[in-house]
Amino acid sequence: MKLDTLPRFHLAEFPTPIQYLDALTKAYKGPGIYIKRDDLTSLGMGGNKTRKLEFLIGEALAQNKDTLVTAGGIQSNHCRLTAAAARKAGLGCHLVLNGTEPEIPNGNLLLDKIFGATIHYCERKDRDERLFQVADELVEAGKTPYVIPVGGSNSIGSVGYVNAMLELDNQIKEMGITPDAIVFATSSGGTQSGLTLGAKMTGFKGEVLGISIDQVKTGPDAFPPVLTQITTATAERIGSDIRMTESDFSLNCDYLGAGYAMPGDPEFNAIRDLSLYEGILLGPVYTARAMGGFLDLIQKDYFTKDQTVLFWHTGGTPELFAWADQCREKI
Ligand SMILES: *Cc1c(COP(=O)(O)O)cnc(C)c1O
Repeated sequence: MKLDTLPRFHLAEFPTPIQYLDALTKAYKGPGIYIKRDDLTSLGMGGNKTRKLEFLIGEALAQNKDTLVTAGGIQSNHCRLTAAAARKAGLGCHLVLNGTEPEIPNGNLLLDKIFGATIHYCERKDRDERLFQVADELVEAGKTPYVIPVGGSNSIGSVGYVNAMLELDNQIKEMGITPDAIVFATSSGGTQSGLTLGAKMTGFKGEVLGISIDQVKTGPDAFPPVLTQITTATAERIGSDIRMTESDFSLNCDYLGAGYAMPGDPEFNAIRDLSLYEGILLGPVYTARAMGGFLDLIQKDYFTKDQTVLFWHTGGTPELFAWADQCREKI
């Protein structure tokens, strides 16, 4: 297995904690609920992109690149953590953000600025093209850019979540727990690909259930082929002969609400429950949507009372400040 020899740049301390959510479990009278705290990865307010960036930046440094370039929405957690990680690695950072520049930057955008990233605003439809344009402009300016795809979701970033699954396997063995399911927010696919591949490698028997934030199951933009493609490339990269088909992925697309970054009642209810029962914060875009879906599944008896479920907290808490108005109204 090549996992241990791939270039990696240290960004945070692992393993992240696993905690039992006693009050939430009692309140919902469903399965025993554990939480894996990847919101506490110790860089720039934490989140799942840290694990991917360790391998992406490892690769960038191995190729002697000097500037990271990536893209996302205005409140992208991935962009904020790329900006923070670039600082730690001594690299420049350019971000292509779709949306209009707000008068007062808040949430992740404020943090992008504090981390000194150069920001390029564009329209959503122009984002992919703009990303490579910015890279070309950097080359013309004598720089050596390293382009990271949206969400850091390619075979390099996904290795971070294969590794995370190996980490979890050690932790649950030590704790003597056997989760019947892992539930988490899925969007660009690197997290789900890595976890699903890692689950197969470790012999994890439970369901690895991604709650879709913005992806659909069927049609021209269907998500399962993306998951299969990333997973195959990741397996090849680490020298594993495991191959996945679309039916190997567990994906729930029932909680898309009004669309990406449009949180509603389920999201704000989840934020309220986790903060009031457990003192844990969720982000309105990703983790509150996934938790809202998970709590709804509990209420629909998708899980039984004697089961154990681990919610993988993927971070995103700085989003809260960008939705301050709705938080104040709805919580
Ligand atoms: C990016 C992100 C996700 C989704 O991870 P993918 O690997 O893109 O599917 C989930 N939660 C948070 C907080 C994120 O920022």
